[in-house]
Order: sequence, then structure tokens, then C-alpha cells
Amino acid sequence: MAKSDNAREASARSAGFPLSSYGEDVFNEEAIKRHLPSGSARKLLATINDGLPLDPSIAEDVAHGMKEWAEAKGATHFTHWFQPLTGGTAEKHEAFIEPCGTAEAVSRFSGRNLIGGEADASSFPSGGLRSTFEARGYTAWDPTSPAFIKRHGNGATLCIPTVFCSYNGAALDAKTPLLRSVQAVSRAVVRLMGMFGRPKEHVSVTLGAEQEYFLIDREFYVKRPDLLQTGRTVFGAAPAKHQQLDDHYYGAIRPRVLKFMTEVEERLWRLGIPAKTRHNEVAPAQFELAPMFEDINLAADHNMLIMETLRLVAESNGFVCLLHEKPFDGVNGSGKHCNWSVAYGGRNLLSPGGSPRDNAIFLTFLSAVIRAVDLHADLLRMSAAGAGNDRRLGGNEAPPAIISIFLGDELSAVMKEIETGRAGRKTGRTAMKIGVDTLPPIPRDATDRNRTSPFAFTGNKFEFRAPGSSQNCSVSQTVLNTIVAESVDAICDKLEAAGGDFNEELQKLLQRLIRKHKRILFSGDGYGPEWPQEAAKRGLPNMPTTVEAIAAMSDPANVALFERYGVYSAGESASRREIAAEDYRSRTLIEGRVALEIARSMIRPVVADEFSRLAAAIATAAKDSIRAGVKGLRALVLKLGAGLDDLHVKCERLDKTLRRGDPRGVTAAVRDLRSTVDALEELVDDSRWPLPKYREMLFVY
Ligand code: ADP
Ligand code: MG
Repeated sequence: MAKSDNAREASARSAGFPLSSYGEDVFNEEAIKRHLPSGSARKLLATINDGLPLDPSIAEDVAHGMKEWAEAKGATHFTHWFQPLTGGTAEKHEAFIEPCGTAEAVSRFSGRNLIGGEADASSFPSGGLRSTFEARGYTAWDPTSPAFIKRHGNGATLCIPTVFCSYNGAALDAKTPLLRSVQAVSRAVVRLMGMFGRPKEHVSVTLGAEQEYFLIDREFYVKRPDLLQTGRTVFGAAPAKHQQLDDHYYGAIRPRVLKFMTEVEERLWRLGIPAKTRHNEVAPAQFELAPMFEDINLAADHNMLIMETLRLVAESNGFVCLLHEKPFDGVNGSGKHCNWSVAYGGRNLLSPGGSPRDNAIFLTFLSAVIRAVDLHADLLRMSAAGAGNDRRLGGNEAPPAIISIFLGDELSAVMKEIETGRAGRKTGRTAMKIGVDTLPPIPRDATDRNRTSPFAFTGNKFEFRAPGSSQNCSVSQTVLNTIVAESVDAICDKLEAAGGDFNEELQKLLQRLIRKHKRILFSGDGYGPEWPQEAAKRGLPNMPTTVEAIAAMSDPANVALFERYGVYSAGESASRREIAAEDYRSRTLIEGRVALEIARSMIRPVVADEFSRLAAAIATAAKDSIRAGVKGLRALVLKLGAGLDDLHVKCERLDKTLRRGDPRGVTAAVRDLRSTVDALEELVDDSRWPLPKYREMLFVY
């Protein structure tokens, strides 16, 4: 970075950054009011804030205002910004410039440009939803996520968040089903609240996604073909010291990293992304960024931008940001904890209530979530599936592949009271009566948190910890919203059918629900070796790999569930399963090929060289009748020789499984090959080892 840039940066900070720049690059309420005629501004804001349908007649005004605003910020292009099923985001820029006459041009951006676009979508995954001869995909403006400006060195682009679908309306993206699932859960919650006598209000589903990542020096990265091509190291011996001392977690952040983080935050704040916390994570070179929670659609978009910003800013700081779930074996992997809650008219339904009525609502909603997670654990597991996350889940430092719920001591005791109809020993009162009692205080103390649980109640929200660091949150949140919608509806059906005294019926219903679904509640150690056995006894599904997990998408009951709630059509479900399976297969095979190539063309020559050098030394010693040292050399040569033989056998085996194209076989063969390579790493002269080592990558930055 040039000196003048540094100076400018420093002065921006002293001039009151970030407050003055927060949201500066977002077409926010202030910009809307400033750049739109008041009638159109009012209508647009009603769509954004209250979820009213968009009035198409304001499109021209909005487009014009948006363009003026964007051009004033240096934008020359616009793009629809969407999330195809690649796991990333997509954009195709179009200049505002429109030639007119000879060597003259005007700038133009019409309502039509804003509202919809056509894209040649033949190269995006569609999972068979669209044949290549009708390869058009359509983008459509999502006014609930504001347009924003992306800046680069010498210009800027206006980005318009859109959904992406095929000609006949089938969703080809991550956002469309999320929006549909929010509608589904909103409808169900309005229905439930109606039963509690509450008038219709706006339902907001919120998400706070904590993002974990690794930073390593770029110098190391470019020397590791595995990192370059797969985002993870397929080889690497464990360093003597890694995370045993817990000295990285929450440790003082090194200045170079802090500079990076500060730059990331400055960019995010400009985009109105409420980056709030930053800290060192458990593994060396691992960090976390968490924004304040927001409306789920916005939070999901923002998470995509956070990942992009982390990558870009890392690059300009000589780092590489690794978002893979398990870049390094033997130390913690990276997750994306998704904190989720639902508010009705601004009141969080997962916040234990202060009045008996609020308490009843809280317990009912809580029970609905418990029922949903128990009945649809397979879908939740599926929503976190992927080749990268397979390496992390169940790895003794991340939630297991078995879905369960942690409630905490106090809430567990309350649930027990409801279930048994008897008060716990220490409460000093009779059992909880729905509609009469309030909850005992539920502490929101961090010490009460069970970090081994994949789905934990944390005071006023659920934290789904299974999703991986690289995954789009929309996938898991779409499932969560849908299964909760179904569960809330099922409770409403039962209450409607019951017809007696509401509170008594509700008490009986909750009792039944807890009895039926309590097997999903687990407060013990989710990493412990006993849990899988206990879970099996309880009949909880355990799906260790993506292969089993994505099969949930083919279960006719699940397909019907998504169809009933208008979230995925049967065709969309099938296409998503197809895409997930293909993604898993491709990533696994790429990993296998990379491992094979490194082993054959980088590791083997170095080991063979070392072997010959030492063997020659032994021969020379024999010729000159030197005996000292020969014993040591011989021992080493024998080990290297055995390693070379192993390497040969294991490479051949990997090659064969690759030819068969069997992903699970490849994973096993790579693991097997790795044990040989990692053992050789410790035998070969350090200065000759061709790959940067863990002890360098994880500590030198
Ligand atoms: P942790 O101790 O797990 O880091 P925090 O309290 O820092 O937990 O919160 C983690 C995330 O949860 C943040 O993004 C925060 O904004 C979000 N969060 C807090 N309350 C809610 C809520 N009611 N709904 C959704 N997310 C929430
Ligand atoms: Mg957390």
C-alpha cells in the first residue's frame, strides 16, 4: 500500500470513521428519500419495511434515483447480484453508457434494467431443472435487500440483489427458497399468535451468523497446490505445538492481523454490515467475525459479502483467507454458527416471557422447535452437508453429525416439570401451570453453554452450530424455517381440534409433545465416545457423511413437506440433491487427484533423492572402512526405503479408486496415503521438504 493511502486511511479514521461512513455505500432509507420522489419513496419503503408487495409503477423512479446515487459514488456499471447453486455469488456487469449518435453517449438505467434481467445460465448448476438448449436464467429484483456499491481500485459497480430462476419459475438460487420459507414460517406464526388472541403483526425471522476463518501468509499458500486447488491441506505432519495450550483463543491479536481486520470492518461498515465482534479462535491462525443479527434475508446476503470481503482484503494484505471447514488436520475446523430467532411485532418469541401469557407463548414456540428438530433431524443434518464439512463434523472439536438440542439446566428442569406434572425438588412451588405461571429466571450466562451441542438454546435464540464456514447460510435457514412452520401448524391443528379450555388443552399438548420428542434433548458431552451409542438407543439418526445426509432430500415425506410449504417443488428438491451429490463427488475427486499429483511429483522425488544420497554415503563409508555412523544411516535408509515402498503402493491404490470414481474410496485412500507422507515429512531433511509445513503456516504471519 502506498504511503499516501496509509495517510488517507489514518485521516479517515481520525475524521470520525466509522459513524460518518456507516451504510454510505448502501441505497438506504436516507438515500431513497433523497433520490426518489416522495410518493415513490414511501411505496418502496413500505415494501422494504412492512413487506407490502412492490408497486411496479415506481420502478422507473427507483431506477433513476438509484443510478443518480450510484453515479455520484463513481459507479459506471450495474449488475444483478445473485446466489446461484455454486455456493458463491454471481454478477455480470453492464455499463450505464448507451451510445447515441456518433461518438456520443448518455447514461441510462431503466426500470426494466432494475426489475429483471436475463442471463445466459447454461453454465450454472441446475441439477437437471433446465436443459442447456433453453439455457436462459432470469434474475428478479429483491427490494427487501438494499442495492449497494462495490468499490474497486479505480471504479465502482452498483449491485442489485436479485433472485435467480428458470423460465418457468423454478428456483436456481439460494435466496428464493429462503424467502419462501420465511413466508411459510410467518404464516404459521401469525396463525399461532391468533390462537393466543394476538392481532396480526409482522413476523421477522432473524439471523446472526458467526464467521470463522483462517489466515495464512500468501507466500506459503502459493507453494501448496492442495491449498490452491482444494482450500485444504491434504498432507502435513502435526506440529509439536498447536492448540494444546489454548493460548490462541481470545489472545492478543497480532498487529498485522488487526490491520487486516480493521480494513475488513471499514469495508463492511460502508456496506451497512454490522460487523460487531472480532477475536482469535481456538486453532492457531484461526479467527472469527460476528455481525449483529439482522433480518434473515439481509443477514444471509451480508454473510456472502463478509466472506468475499475477507478474501479480498486478505489478498491485499499478503494473506490468504481460508474459508474451508477443515484446512488443517489435527486442529479445529471452521464453522458458521447460525443464531436464529423469530419475533412477532418486534417481540422475540424465544425470549422467556415476563407474564404468564408470554410464558405460555414462549413454551409453545420452544416446543414447536423441539418437535421440528426431532422430526426433521435428517433435514437439518442434510442442510449442513458437504465435502468440506464432512471433515469437520464429529471431529472431536465440532458438533457431531448427530443432531440434538441443548436447553440448559433451568429450561430442562421446566420441561421436565411440564412433562411429569410434578415440580422439581428445589423449586419450592407446584409444577408449572401454563397460562398461570411465569418462568423462573433463565440465566443467559455464557458458562452454561454446552459448546458440544449442534443445536443449542442460548437464552433467547437457537444457535445451529453444524453449518460449515464456507456454506451459504440460506440452505440451513430455509430448512429450519420450513420445519418450524410445519411444527407450529401441527400444534395449531391440535389446539383447534381440542376445543376445551385453551390453557388446559395447551398444557396437555405440551406434555405430550415433550414426552414424544424429549429424546432429541441432550445436555451431555456431544464429543464423547458414549454419545453415538446413546443416540442410537434413542433412535436418533447419525449420518457421518454427505452421502447419507443428502439422501434425506429424496425421502418422499420430505419432498412433500417442502412442496406443501411452497419452499421447494418436487423438481427443485430433486435438483438440489443432484447438485449437492455432484458437488461432493467433484470436490472429493479433485482432492484425490491433487493428493496423487503431489505425492508422485513432489514428495516421491525428494524422498528418492534422500534415499540415494544416504545409500551412497553408506557405500562410501564401507569403501573407506568407516564404521561409525553407518548404523544410524542404515536405520534411516531402511525407513526411507519402506516409506518409498508404501508411497508406491498407496499411490497406486488411490489411482485405482480415482479411476473408479468412487468418492468414499478416494477419501479413504487419501487418508491412508497421508499417513505415509506425514511420516516421511519427519524423516526427510527439512530444507529439502517441498511443501510449507504446518509449523510454518500456522505460526508465521
Ligand atoms: P456467542 O457467545 O455464541 O459468540 P453472541 O451473544 O456473541 O454469542 O451472539 C452471537 C450472534 O448471535 C451474534 O451475531 C448476535 O447478534 C446473534 N444474536 C443475538 N441475539 C439474537 C437473536 N435474538 N436472534 C438471532 N441472532 C441473535
Ligand atoms: Mg456462538
